[in-house]
Amino acid sequence: MKINKTSKHQNIKASNPRAVPYGKQSIDNDDIQALVEVLKSNFITQGPKIKEFEDKLAEYCGAKYAVAFNSGTSALHGAYFATGLSKDDEFITSPMTFAATSNAGVYLGARPIFVDIEEDTGNIDCEKIEGKITNKTKLIVPIHYAGHPCDMTKIKEIADKYNLKVVEDGCHALGAKLKVQSSRFKVQRSTFNVGSCQFSDMTVFSFHPVKHITTGEGGAVLTNKQEYYEKLLMFRNHGITKDSSKFNVQSSTFVGEWYYEMQLLGYNYRMTDIQAALGVSQLKKLDSFVEKRRGIVQKYNEIFVNNPYFELPVEKEYAHNSYHLYPIKLKDSLKQKKRELFNKLRECGVGVQVHYIPVYFHPFYQDLGYENGLCPKAEEFYRSEISLPIFPGMTNEELDFVVNKVQEVFESL
Ligand SMILES: *Cc1c(COP(=O)(O)O)cnc(C)c1O
Repeated sequence: MKINKTSKHQNIKASNPRAVPYGKQSIDNDDIQALVEVLKSNFITQGPKIKEFEDKLAEYCGAKYAVAFNSGTSALHGAYFATGLSKDDEFITSPMTFAATSNAGVYLGARPIFVDIEEDTGNIDCEKIEGKITNKTKLIVPIHYAGHPCDMTKIKEIADKYNLKVVEDGCHALGAKLKVQSSRFKVQRSTFNVGSCQFSDMTVFSFHPVKHITTGEGGAVLTNKQEYYEKLLMFRNHGITKDSSKFNVQSSTFVGEWYYEMQLLGYNYRMTDIQAALGVSQLKKLDSFVEKRRGIVQKYNEIFVNNPYFELPVEKEYAHNSYHLYPIKLKDSLKQKKRELFNKLRECGVGVQVHYIPVYFHPFYQDLGYENGLCPKAEEFYRSEISLPIFPGMTNEELDFVVNKVQEVFESL
């Protein structure tokens, strides 16, 4: 069977100028000016903008350290590496994510163990984690699907009980918050930004153009632990340190100003100063971007409430959702018509997407022995989910256009 596809990054506008993509960056003149300044400066990579971006990101999230990477995927790789995840270890995650979440562990020779999801949020079902822990388990990786934080206090409790590390895949959830009411963690009702790492070892973000802020490509790891911070810095730069207090070789005629040591096998995962300058400029607008997203959700929710065709995304009492996506879920009989609905929406210019194909459905994972049926709720979620357009620059006209087309298409069935 041949399936015609528009490109992943939404060439939908090329064929229809009124078309509305599912997600899109917002770049303004300040952003452009910030880039021009870096281009005129002495450093376009490995200069001062990286540290500035990292410091501002860490401050925004309420974590001690941030390390910028050249993608969310390389940031995940770095974070897993820093936990010590290695060959034949197992890590627990959910299949309702982009393949990178589990690929990054496979890079290290570890095996992803997929835990099923909650059907309302699409997040990992905390009640099902313990049943999947073995003596090989080292790490739990919750994904804050669509921008809705996972119930991190529950995950932290399990991790502590079994002495496991936790890395949050926060790629959907920059700007989201967790509201915590838990005496076990000695906090009275309190709000934490995703990225504060209050209930995890590290949190990973992506700055791909469809995410909350963009650096073109880019990512970061947040942490409160110096040990991880130092490992992450080395990992993104070939495993090299220039810090003389850490050298194995101490004094020698051949140790001088030029000297550095490569102490572990790292990569070139560095972000450029060009990207970091864009990040600094974008970060200033993050709160307003999240508010715009939440405003769009409020309008969609008001219009679509109680409709007979699909269910709307939720926000639980412990969550302040930053709505990377607006995932709707088709009701029973309509699931059979998903492809028809999807095609019709695309044809009339609504840039819908599907998030996600369960990771283990992909041939690479099938070849590793994962079988269909492993996570029935995730599979059902996949069969019913369609993401409607949502991005900070979406105009009222675009929103009305999407709403009208969605109503038209569903009513025509
Ligand atoms: C975008 C994304 C990634 C990967 O980020 P890149 O910057 O594209 O490498 C990983 N996990 C999730 C959940 C994502 O949405």
